[in-house]
Amino acid sequence: MVYFCYIDESGTPQIPGNTSHYVLCGVSIPVKFWKRCDKQIAVIKAKYGLSEAEIHTGWIKRSYLEQSKIDGFEEMTYQERRSAVITLRKAEIFRVKKTGNAKSLKQLKKNYSNTDPYIHLTFNERMQFLRDVADAIGSWSYARLFAECIDKVYFDPAKAVHAVDEQSFEQIVTRFEYFMSNVKRKNEKNYGLLIHDNNITESTKLTSLMKTFHRKGTFWTKIRHIIETPLFVDSELTEMIQLADLCALALRRYLENGESDLLDRIKPRFDSRHGRIVGVRHFSKQDCTCALCKTESTAQDKG
Ligand SMILES: [Zn+2]
Repeated sequence: MVYFCYIDESGTPQIPGNTSHYVLCGVSIPVKFWKRCDKQIAVIKAKYGLSEAEIHTGWIKRSYLEQSKIDGFEEMTYQERRSAVITLRKAEIFRVKKTGNAKSLKQLKKNYSNTDPYIHLTFNERMQFLRDVADAIGSWSYARLFAECIDKVYFDPAKAVHAVDEQSFEQIVTRFEYFMSNVKRKNEKNYGLLIHDNNITESTKLTSLMKTFHRKGTFWTKIRHIIETPLFVDSELTEMIQLADLCALALRRYLENGESDLLDRIKPRFDSRHGRIVGVRHFSKQDCTCALCKTESTAQDKG
């Protein structure tokens, strides 16, 4: 069997950076089910008028100020909503232009272009869209989620062997490798390929790290199933990466703000063995009581 593991991050690996957590998440799918997954997501997107849109969870989840300013927004058709929002946005761009603040204008245009594909949906509809996608992922019995969630408050760069992003990558590689060895059937060899969201700084670093893993193994295991160095792709073009982005964000929002709605939907896919989560780890304080730490594996895994 061949598995693809789509990898994306949420939060910043820098310390302290602007998020308390850094999450790296991998979604593994056997290639023979890829078509089925792709179709299911396409059906959900079509239902919300998002067939051509990227699933960019961070932008979808925001509240769009203009929508609250439009009377009867909910009763409008998609097209009416879209044109009403665009009208307000044009006026706002014009207003900010007049102030001469180039930085605000640039930020405003960026916000508008990133949220543009979703402006025909109310906040509730957008959240429902994300729930539907998360439910779909949760229902894929053959899929597995792997993640390293680092609470940077408890990450001591002086003691750590690797930087935050490298440690996370090593964890994902190790758990994906373990998974393929655990699900091996007789007379069948599993192979896995990592597909990573492209990022210039990460790609060079992770490629060379992966080459080291191939030669020497990770700290925990030899690499027997993963082939190649990660393929780096553009998340705007590769939809399955967007699903890894959704899962990474769901984990981070749960750990940072206690939001569990999306997390509960994808949780069934956390790689588990004998009823314990082994694929997803929260690197945090010893006595953390979050849902990941309560059920996760052994103390030796802790920071
Ligand atoms: Zn925890």
